[in-house]
Amino acid sequence: MQFTQSEALHKEAQKHIVGGVNSPSRAYKGVGGGSPVYMEKAEGAYFWDVDNNKYIDYLGAYGPIITGHAHPHITKAIIAAAENGVLYGTPTKLENIFAQKLKQAIPSMDKVRFVNSGTEAVMTTIRVARAYTNREKIIKFAGCYHGHFDAVLVQAGSGPSTLGNPDSAGVTEATAKEVITVPFNDIDAYKEALYHWGDQVAAVLIEPIVGNFGIVEPFEGFLQEVKNLANKNGSLLIFDEVITAFRFTYGSAQSLVGVEPDMTALGKIIGGGLPIGAYGGKQEIMEQVAPLGPAYQAGTMAGNPASMSSGIACLEVLSEAGIYEKLDRLGALLEEGITAAAEQHNISITINRLKGALTVYFGNEKVTNYAQAEATDGEKFGQFFKLMLKQGINLAPSKYEAWFLTIAHTEEDIRHTIECVNQAFEEMAK
Ligand code: PMP
Repeated sequence: MQFTQSEALHKEAQKHIVGGVNSPSRAYKGVGGGSPVYMEKAEGAYFWDVDNNKYIDYLGAYGPIITGHAHPHITKAIIAAAENGVLYGTPTKLENIFAQKLKQAIPSMDKVRFVNSGTEAVMTTIRVARAYTNREKIIKFAGCYHGHFDAVLVQAGSGPSTLGNPDSAGVTEATAKEVITVPFNDIDAYKEALYHWGDQVAAVLIEPIVGNFGIVEPFEGFLQEVKNLANKNGSLLIFDEVITAFRFTYGSAQSLVGVEPDMTALGKIIGGGLPIGAYGGKQEIMEQVAPLGPAYQAGTMAGNPASMSSGIACLEVLSEAGIYEKLDRLGALLEEGITAAAEQHNISITINRLKGALTVYFGNEKVTNYAQAEATDGEKFGQFFKLMLKQGINLAPSKYEAWFLTIAHTEEDIRHTIECVNQAFEEMAK
C-alpha cells in the first residue's frame, strides 16, 4: 500500500494547522508516530483514502458512527435540514421531538439541554452540580476521559486523600485542587476520598462502562455503592455516557448496570455524526440552569436543526429490531477470531468486549482499571496497528481505544479482518 498523497497532505497540514491535526490523537502519537492517513470518502463500513486505498473501518470516528458511514436515512435527514437552512437561532420543533425521544430512552432525565460536544455536556453537568449542592470539589476516576475542559484535565495526587495535579499545561493548581481522582473499580479508595473530602464534594463523575482505557466494565455492585455513598454524602452522581449511550442498547448504559445517576452527559452517537452534546437529569437539578436558575449555559449552535435532524434519524435507525443483537454477534465473531489467531501465533493478548465494542490489549493480565491498561504493551499495539493499516484495516491509533463495530459491517468483513489479524500476528511472532 502506498500513502504518498497522505504523506504530502500531512506535510502541508503542518504548515497551517498546529501539529497538522485538529485533535491530537489523530497524529498517530499513540502508535509511534508517522503520517496519519487522510481519508476522502466513507460509506457503510468502509473508508477510501486520498491514495485510493480501501479500508474496513473500526474507528467509527471514535464512537459516533454506529450505523456505518453515510447511512441513507441519516444522510437524507441532513440534506433535508440543509435545504431548510442549517441554523436559525430560534427554537424549532425538532428540538422537542429529539428531547422527547432521548427522555423516553433514558428515563432518569426529566429535562435535557442540547449543546455541541461531549466536553460541553460534561462541563455543564459539573457547573450545575456545583450550583445545586453549593459545593466545589469533584471526584473522578483515573483513566476515564471527560473532554478537554480544565477540571477534568487533572491527574491523581499521591492517593485518595490528596488533591489532584494539573494534567495539562494551562490548567491551574487552583483547579486541580478541586478534583480528587481515584482508581476505577476501587471502592475502598473511593470511600477514603469521601471520608477526607466528603462535605466538599459536589459531584462524583464516572463513565459507567469505561470506553477510554479500553472497554472496561464495572465490578458487580461497584456503581450501586458509588451511588449510595455519593447520595448519602449529599453529592450528585454524574454518568458520562458520551460513549456508552446507544452503544450497547437502545438507551443508556445506566439501564444495563441498573443504576440511575442524578445527571447524565451525552454526545457522539446521538448526533448521528454531526456535532452534538446533551445533558440532562432530575427536574429540580436541571432547574438550576438558565433561564430558570442561576447556573449559566448557552450556545449559538446548540440544538441546531442539522444536528437535531441527524440525531433523530440516527435514533430511528437504532430503534429497529435486532440492531444490538447484530452488533453483539459480530463482536463475538471478531473476538473469537482474534483470540484464535493469538493462540495460533503465541501472542499474549487480553480482550475486553461488550457487544459491538472491544479492546485488544497486548499482555496477559486482566484489565479492570487504568493502571492495568497502562501496563499493557503499547509498542506491540503500535506494531499491530501499522500491520493492520497496511492491510486495509483502520483501527483507532491508541492502545486505550476500542474497536467499534457498526451495523454496516458484515460477517465477510469480520472474516477478512481476522485473516488480516492472523497475518499481523504471524509477522509479530517472527
Ligand atoms: N466523555 C467521554 C466519555 C468521551 O469519550 C469523550 C470524547 N472521547 C468526551 C467526553 C468528550 O467529547 P467531545 O470530544 O465531543 O468533546
